[in-house]
Amino acid sequence: MGCKTTPRENQHTPVIEKLIRDVPDFPKPGILFKDITPLLQNSQGLAETISRLERAVPPSSYDLVCGIESRGFIFGTALALKASKGFIPIRKPGKLPYKTASESYELEYGKDTLEIHIDAVSRGQRILIVDDLLATGGTMAAAVKLLTGLGAVPVAAAVVIELTFLKGRERLGSLAVHSLIRY
Ligand code: AMP
Repeated sequence: MGCKTTPRENQHTPVIEKLIRDVPDFPKPGILFKDITPLLQNSQGLAETISRLERAVPPSSYDLVCGIESRGFIFGTALALKASKGFIPIRKPGKLPYKTASESYELEYGKDTLEIHIDAVSRGQRILIVDDLLATGGTMAAAVKLLTGLGAVPVAAAVVIELTFLKGRERLGSLAVHSLIRY
């Protein structure tokens, strides 16, 4: 059929791919924003996405799903429910009400910070980290640091979209990265 052999996490995903909208110059000039709202709006697309995320990483290999604010919450919570796991949020600064650990990281211009509740994980717990998109990997790397700092063990990252040309996975060392769609 002329299909190339591809790794498991890069299987053909026409339904999902068609439902991702490119928005040029958002939130600033030069950025091609991958808008996942059409995907969320479509029942088949949403179900397919969550099923594929669940199949990408065996649920027996992790104890909790961690989602990164804010689109990581949408996919992460749905995945946690499907995989019968609990969910923990990593949030932007000042949003979590209890005691937090925080991690700052470099953006293209400036810095950003992420936070986690200090009791979100227990020592040795195995964590699957979920976000909508992996770009430079700075956000995911900060999430890994927060989790390892609390003694948890990130076992893999699962994202819907990976912008491979930004080489985000190189920044994540040996962490397994699973993406459904790669550009
Ligand atoms: P990075 O830290 O560079 O890997 O960026 C990943 C984070 O920024 C994710 O939480 C994404 O939601 C968001 N992001 C970065 N680039 C884009 C893009 N082109 N379209 C949509 N979201 C993006």
